[in-house]
Amino acid sequence: MSFLEIFNGYDRAEVARDIAACGAADVQRALAAEHLRLGDFMALLSPAAQAYLEPLAQKAHRVTQRRFGKTIQMFAPLYVSNECSNGCLYCGFNAANKVARRTLSLDEVEAEARILRQRGFRHVQLLTGEAPRAVNVDYLEKVVRRVRPLFSAISIEVFPMDEAGYRKMVAAGVDNLTVYQETYDRQLYDRLHPFGRKKDFDWRLTTPDRGGAAGLRSIGVGALLGLSDWRTEGFFVGLHARHLARSWWRSRVNVSFPRLRPADGGFQPLAPVSDRALVQLLCALRLLMPDAGLVLSTRESAALRDSLLPLGITQLSAGSSTAPGGYGHEHDGSEQFAISDERDAEQVCAMLRASGYEPVWKDWDSAFQN
Ligand code: SF4
Repeated sequence: MSFLEIFNGYDRAEVARDIAACGAADVQRALAAEHLRLGDFMALLSPAAQAYLEPLAQKAHRVTQRRFGKTIQMFAPLYVSNECSNGCLYCGFNAANKVARRTLSLDEVEAEARILRQRGFRHVQLLTGEAPRAVNVDYLEKVVRRVRPLFSAISIEVFPMDEAGYRKMVAAGVDNLTVYQETYDRQLYDRLHPFGRKKDFDWRLTTPDRGGAAGLRSIGVGALLGLSDWRTEGFFVGLHARHLARSWWRSRVNVSFPRLRPADGGFQPLAPVSDRALVQLLCALRLLMPDAGLVLSTRESAALRDSLLPLGITQLSAGSSTAPGGYGHEHDGSEQFAISDERDAEQVCAMLRASGYEPVWKDWDSAFQN
C-alpha cells in the first residue's frame, strides 16, 4: 500500500483533536511503552506531554545511545543549482524572486566537491531547485558520476523523479534520498505552492515510496517546521516514516527537522515552532522510530544544536553554504535560506569530541553490501 492511501484515510482535523485530547495518563503510558503505537505517539506530541519533557528527553537519550552509541555522522550540502520554476512562497529560490541564477558546470561541481573533501567530508548532499531544462536526470547523473570517486556516500535533495529516474541515480552511485513534504496540510500546501510542478501534492507525497522501490539505501522525510501546527505535522511525519520503514525495510529511514529561516522574499513563519516544541517533537519521533537517523542542519543555532545533540540526533551538517558555488567563491547573497550555526567542520568536530562524541565521516562501505 502506498503512503497516499494511508494518508487519505486520515482526517487532519480529527488527528489534531485526538492529539489535543490526550491527558497525563496517556503520556505516562506512552513513556512506559517499549514499542509505541500511534496513539502513544500522539500522546507524546500532545500539550499534556509538555509537563513530561524531562523524562521524555531522558528516554530519547537512552534509546539513541543504545542504538547508535556516541557517534554523529557528518555531511555537507553542495548546491549545484538554484534555478527553479516553482513558486514555493517560503523559499529564496522561488521563481518569482529576482536572485542571480546559476547552475554549476561539471568542472565547477567537482571544484566544490574537492573543497569539501579537503575539509574532511566523505558524505555530500547534492541539492538543486526544480528546473527541468537546466537541471534534469541526465545532468544529475553526470554530476553524481563525477563526484562519486571523492565521497563514500552521496545524498540527493532535488526535484522528485519517477522510479526509473531513481534507478538511474542508484546506478550512478546515489545512496540517500531526502524529500520533504513541506506540509501535510493539503489546503495550505496548495496555497504555498501557487505554480510549478511542485503544486502536485500527491506526486510529492509518493516520492519517498518511489525512491524505496528503486532501492535507495536510505530515504529521508520531514516537514518544514513553521508552516502549520507542529503537532499535527509531526504526527504525519511519524506516520510517513513508519510506513517507509515497514515498506522498504532494506532502506534506512531518516527524519529531518528543518525550521523555517529567513530567505529572499521575506516569508514569515505562519506557525512558529519554539525550541521546547522542537525538543518535544524530536524526542517523540525518536521513541516512535528508535532506528531512524535524525538529522539537524545548520539552520539551527550552535547553542541549540549542541543541546539537542544527546536527545536523538545522529547526523549533522557543518560549515554549510546554501548558494551554488558558495564554497569556492564569496557568494553573491543568493542563498536558499540563511544559516544560523556558522561554525566550520573543525569547530563542530571539536565540540563533538568535547561532549564525548565521535564524529564519523564515513559510516559504511559499499563492499559490505554484497
Ligand atoms: S523549495 Fe525547492 S522547489 Fe520550492 S522554490 Fe525553493 S528550490 Fe524551488
